Amino acid sequence: MDIISQNLFTSLPFSPEALSNWNENIDRDLLEFIYKVYDKQGIVVKEDGSRISINHKDTVIYFYLNYRQIFQEWIKRVTLTAGQFNELIPNLIDDPEFGKVGKYFIAWNCLIRYIRAEALFFCIDHINETISEINSSMYLVSGFYYKQGLEVLRNFLEEVVKPIYFCINEAAYKNWRLNRFQHLQMHSYRDKKGIINTLLEKTIIDKDIAKEFSDLYKELSGCVHGEKKWFSSSNFSYERLCKWNDLFCRSINLAIKLVIININEWQRQKLKNIDEKVCLYCHNKHKILVNRIIEHGEEIYLEQKCSQCNQVMIIRKSQPVFKVTVSNDDGIEENYFFLNR
Ligand SMILES: [Zn+2]
Repeated sequence: MDIISQNLFTSLPFSPEALSNWNENIDRDLLEFIYKVYDKQGIVVKEDGSRISINHKDTVIYFYLNYRQIFQEWIKRVTLTAGQFNELIPNLIDDPEFGKVGKYFIAWNCLIRYIRAEALFFCIDHINETISEINSSMYLVSGFYYKQGLEVLRNFLEEVVKPIYFCINEAAYKNWRLNRFQHLQMHSYRDKKGIINTLLEKTIIDKDIAKEFSDLYKELSGCVHGEKKWFSSSNFSYERLCKWNDLFCRSINLAIKLVIININEWQRQKLKNIDEKVCLYCHNKHKILVNRIIEHGEEIYLEQKCSQCNQVMIIRKSQPVFKVTVSNDDGIEENYFFLNR
């Protein structure tokens, strides 16, 4: 069974809607997507051992509003700076295609937030890097560095695909963690030398996704390898901005599918070895030490520490849980333990 349902793909691709028109009806496909991601029953265990049932869906609207605010600030900044070069540029807040950029920006951030909170990631470093790549691409484009903003999008796709390969090739992942240089070729899905072909042959990804990746990666590679058409003089260009917009949306649309494939494959592998202790962060299986035992009501948690990467994990039985400390209105801190299911 998939831990993140591929039903999510039915909400994709998102429709273009001007940001100025968004409301709960207009950006329905985005809200439908993030509600589906977060629609999971959970239990919060308080310090005194009492439990509260929650649905994660009830909290996601706050994250959605926060990311929407960040995007609104970005789009205002781009419009303002571009207006200094060309008074005739349209207000991007009223442009449906730029509303679509916002949907993908918010969807990716909400999805990654969920993946981190539930520790579903195969590799936290790659997951974190995708956020840096997206943010830096948007930052570069807001300064009219379109070619460079696109180069970063190619990196973004690589950060999503490599963990899928590492998930089926433990030795390659270990080498990567040890900084041993490996040039993993993406190549076309037809080229036997590339990892896309490997993933296709092992039926981890299907042909449609392999082809979509190859086409997009080839297009973005034109920037990295200096095709003349991508050169720009860092002046505002509405045409180039629209091209970046299209490639940004397509990259995240594909990355959503790829990251879900990666997570489901990783969870399948973990379920096969449910009794095995594995560090969530570096995948070390041999040096996990029990730091202390924590008792809350009837529940017993083990605080485990990985002696390889020093990360601490709170574990209930074989199930990872996450300790979150929050301050209430009186400034008193309370610990909550979030269970996965
Ligand atoms: Zn570790």
